[in-house]
Amino acid sequence: MATQIRRTDDYGANMARCGAAMPCVVCGRAVRSARAPMIHVNYLWRAITDDEYRLAPEDSQGCWPIGPDCLRRHPELRPYCGPVAG
Ligand SMILES: [Zn+2]
Repeated sequence: MATQIRRTDDYGANMARCGAAMPCVVCGRAVRSARAPMIHVNYLWRAITDDEYRLAPEDSQGCWPIGPDCLRRHPELRPYCGPVAG
């Protein structure tokens, strides 16, 4: 079951300062750790499972990292965290 990700109000401003780093899926701050868990999101910015991706691959917005603080604040996103990259 897809879960809505609630972006912080300052997501856009944080993302604009990210530079080359990947923005956190929740707060938009740069995630510099290559070991950050990744979450697959769709065009409604909902976290999706692998099965949900396979049902509607055209809705994918790709995989985005989540920072450790945001993951602590949003335990509902933990089941969507994919294998650590790298
Ligand atoms: Zn974050």
